Amino acid sequence: MYFGSHVSSSGGIDKAVERAIDLGADAVQMFIQSPRMWRPVNHKDENIARFRELRDEHLQGAVAHAIYLINVASDDPEIWEKGATALAHTMTIGARLGLDGVIFHPGSHKGAETGLAGCVDLIAKACLRAIDAGEREAAAAGTSTPYLLLENTAGTGGTIGRDAEELATLVHATDDHGQLGVCIDSCHWWASGVDVTDREALDRELAILDDAIGPERLRAIHLNDSKTPLGSNRDRHDNIGEGLIGDGLGTFLAHPRFEGLGAYLEVPGTGDGTRPEDITAARTLRERALARA
Ligand SMILES: [Zn+2]
Ligand SMILES: [Zn+2]
Repeated sequence: MYFGSHVSSSGGIDKAVERAIDLGADAVQMFIQSPRMWRPVNHKDENIARFRELRDEHLQGAVAHAIYLINVASDDPEIWEKGATALAHTMTIGARLGLDGVIFHPGSHKGAETGLAGCVDLIAKACLRAIDAGEREAAAAGTSTPYLLLENTAGTGGTIGRDAEELATLVHATDDHGQLGVCIDSCHWWASGVDVTDREALDRELAILDDAIGPERLRAIHLNDSKTPLGSNRDRHDNIGEGLIGDGLGTFLAHPRFEGLGAYLEVPGTGDGTRPEDITAARTLRERALARA
């Protein structure tokens, strides 16, 4: 397992790699545009080249997180179209940057009576369009297509992807496209009712996921503690070891299924995001849990 962090990409996408290196991380996650705006950033070739150069030299992994505005579960054609376009754009830039993955939240049906069944095809259609955009750009840029990774959610309101079954349903809806994978967030699992401090609970949930979609689709981890209780369905990240999951997060970190994957922190720090000590805390927690096992 290697450790990464979400960092800002302001001032140029290559600055994200520099920030990750400064944190002592092995990997980087960033937005490729402002998370609060639809307007895409025009990345300069020189910044993209510098990103790839720094990443190849210093890091083991690099992923992008798609912006939170995207909701491709929406049955409003305008909202869906905006989201699908932004997701495809993220895959395009991701291919140009040579990223391992593009992580996104499957969205919310906002309490529609048709629930998950009513939006599965909408989400799948957006995924296929984004993967297609990534594949085309990768072919043109001579890179490889990033995996498009569905992230599990905390289960708030009508959000999709609250458990392994829902993630599997979405993968199946794309005819099990080989470029689609999943990213598991420890805080979201906890909030949606999976006790990540309990080895048996983890085994159970991972077995459901592996049986339904195959082990190779699990491509990344989001590593966060939680400010809210188990099963609260509320998504509030806390610093590693400082929240309600606490040192029990070591059990999650030491699970053999996560060996070799990148664990990306999305923690508040003191308000400005991950600090070097947060990465150290994660490394220490894992080492201690492995020593106990
Ligand atoms: Zn996350
Ligand atoms: Zn979250």
